[in-house]
Amino acid sequence: MQGERQEPESHAGERVPTFDEARKIILERVSTLGSELAPALDAVGRVLAEDLVAPWDFPAWDNSAMDGYAIRAADAKAPASLRLSAYIPAGTAATEPLAPGTAAKILTGAPLPAGADAVVPIEEAEERDGAVAILAPVRPGAHVRRRGEDIRSGESVLPAGTILGPPEISLLASCSRLSVSVFRRARVAILSTGDELVEPGEALAPGKIHDSNALAVAAAVKQIGAEPVLLGIARDDRQSLRTLLAEGLRADALVTTAGVSMGDRDLVRQVLDELEVRQVFWKIDIKPGRPTAFALRGSTPVFSLPGNPVSTLLTFEQFVRPALLKMMGHAKVFRPLVAATFQDEIPRKPGRVSFVRVRLERRGSELLAWSAGKQDTGILKTMIRADGIAVIPAERGDLRPGSAVEVQVLRGGFDMCQA
Ligand code: AMP
Ligand code: MG
Repeated sequence: MQGERQEPESHAGERVPTFDEARKIILERVSTLGSELAPALDAVGRVLAEDLVAPWDFPAWDNSAMDGYAIRAADAKAPASLRLSAYIPAGTAATEPLAPGTAAKILTGAPLPAGADAVVPIEEAEERDGAVAILAPVRPGAHVRRRGEDIRSGESVLPAGTILGPPEISLLASCSRLSVSVFRRARVAILSTGDELVEPGEALAPGKIHDSNALAVAAAVKQIGAEPVLLGIARDDRQSLRTLLAEGLRADALVTTAGVSMGDRDLVRQVLDELEVRQVFWKIDIKPGRPTAFALRGSTPVFSLPGNPVSTLLTFEQFVRPALLKMMGHAKVFRPLVAATFQDEIPRKPGRVSFVRVRLERRGSELLAWSAGKQDTGILKTMIRADGIAVIPAERGDLRPGSAVEVQVLRGGFDMCQA
C-alpha cells in the first residue's frame, strides 16, 4: 500500500515532528560549507566569506561632476571673465595649480587642479576668445565630487555574509579585485527511484512514466546557485539503490525522490541505513509531503522526498532549499512571508499544517490570494500557476473568502512586473 497514511508515529515510537520542528531540526543539523576564491563573475549570487575593506578613498581625488570650467569660487563672486589657463580631459591630471583669476576647461571625472574649488558647467558659461564668462556667482564646492565622499579608505564596505549582486561586483572591480572569497556552492546529488521511471527523451512502455523529479529538483538546486549532480534512476531493488546512493553520498548533500512511503518496494530508507546513514526523522506532520525523511551521514544531509512530483517540489521548497542556502552561507534562508486575504472556499479539517498553492494580486494596499487551481497533489498545473504557497496552521478549519492567510512568496515581484 502506498501514499500518506495516518500513523501517529514515525518509527520506534518517535513522535512525528511538526512543520516548524522539522525545519528547525534540519537547520540545526546542517553546517556551512567552506569557502573558496572565485572570479568576480562566478561570485554573483553567492555569499561573501571575507570582510571587504576599501583599499583607498572613493573617489580617490576631488574631481569634476560635470563637463565645464574649474575655477576658484572666490574669483566669481560677481559676473567675471576668466582666462582659460589649462585643459584637463578625463584620464589626465593637471600638473600645475590653477592660477588665481583663471579657469581650466575640465571634463567629467578629471581631477580638479590644485587651488580650484568649484566647477561651472558648460551650459552656465560662455567661452569666447580664450576666456570664459561666468554669469552668476559660484558656490565653493559646486559640481565637485569630494575625495572619499562615497567610501573612505579602510572602511568596511562589504561585510562577510553579503550576497554579491551587480552593485557589489561594481565595488570589487573598483577595488581592482579579480576574485573574492565566497562560500562554496553545494554539490547536490539527485537520485530518482522507481521501476516505473524512464529517462526523459526515451520511449515509454505501458505503465512507465518519464522521470520528471530529477530535473525538477536539479532546476530548484540551480536556482539557488547550488550545483546539481544527476545520478539517474535507481530501480526499486537493493543493489541498484545501494550503488547509486553510495555514489550520491560523495556529494555535499543527497536528495532522493520516491520510495519512502509504506509500499513493499519503498526501500530507500532501509538501504540508506545499510550505508550507515543515520535517520533523524521520517515523516513530518504536514500535507502534502508527510513521508519526507531526513538523515545524516557524518555532516552530509540526506533528504528523501516523496515521489509525487508536486510533493517533491513542495518538500524541496520547505526543507531542502533552506538547508542548502544555509550550507552556502546565507543568513536568510526562508522565502518572504506576506499576509494576504484568501478569496476562495476550501473545506479543511484541522490536523496538520497544509500548503495551498495560490495566485497573488495586489489591490490597493491589500494583497489577495486565490487558489491557483485544484489542490490535489496530482495537479502539477496548479504548481505552475502558483505565485506563492499559503501555509495553513494545523488548527485551522475551512478556508473562506476573507480568511487571513500567510503566504510564502515564490515569485519575487509577482505584482511588479509589467507586460
Ligand atoms: P512513490 O513515493 O514511490 O510511491 O511514488 C509516488 C508517486 O510519484 C507515484 O505515482 C510515482 O509514479 C510518482 N513518481 C515517483 N518518482 C517520480 C519521478 N521521478 N518523476 C515523476 N513521477 C514520479
Ligand atoms: Mg515508487
